[in-house]
Amino acid sequence: MELLNKNYGKKVLLLFMTVIGMLLLLSTSVSAAATIHWGYGGSENPTQWAKLSNDFALCELGRDQSPINIQDAVDGSPAKITFNYNPSPLEVVNNGHTIQVNYAPGSTVNINGDKYSLLQFHFHTPSEHNINEKAAAMELHLVHRNELGQLAVVGAMINKGKENSLIEDVWKNIPAVGETNTVSDRLVNATDLLPKSKAYYSYEGSLTTPPCSEGVKWNLFVEPLTLSEAQIDAFEKMYQVDARPLQPINGRVVQLHR
Ligand SMILES: [Zn+2]
Repeated sequence: MELLNKNYGKKVLLLFMTVIGMLLLLSTSVSAAATIHWGYGGSENPTQWAKLSNDFALCELGRDQSPINIQDAVDGSPAKITFNYNPSPLEVVNNGHTIQVNYAPGSTVNINGDKYSLLQFHFHTPSEHNINEKAAAMELHLVHRNELGQLAVVGAMINKGKENSLIEDVWKNIPAVGETNTVSDRLVNATDLLPKSKAYYSYEGSLTTPPCSEGVKWNLFVEPLTLSEAQIDAFEKMYQVDARPLQPINGRVVQLHR
């Protein structure tokens, strides 16, 4: 009887230790995935992303990667893109890779009949995409997700020109790296970031940052936006380069929707 009890006790202890061990393993692997550093220069530059984590393998092995050079687009009419953006309290994140503005739920875009909700918008310098082998000073990405969890990004090239008043509000409220600044009494409307003409290019691509996930619907306005020289300079002072180099097109078709 006593022997039986001892064995039972040992077994319970062993089980307990195994569970604790598994929990420890799980928590360290989750936190490791969340803290993998990547960047645009040095040993963590875009050509090294896939080597930084198994989770980033697509950055090297993916066949439908972004950004690309937009050229030789085929006619994609009559597809249309329509925007239903509402004002959102200003929430600016300085995440160490870019300046990002998180958007309140309820603003949507309709792309060729599919509805996506606006999650956030952010910026790259220089532009990530090229149009006819030309880069722009910056690029805006409006990131959307539909009910199935699929992503659609609406992008716009940004050239030097007239200043943008929404960007003035955003730039004034940038927090320190790693921080978020919520200005609940300041409303912004992403409609102020859309060009007059809604003609756009579309193609199937990926996230342009790790983990470089594919299945992202890309939609790039033909008409560029403008920011003032001072507004572009202000961003470049914080992020000199935060653009992934061009990726091979691998036979993908780019459509032009007028
Ligand atoms: Zn982006």
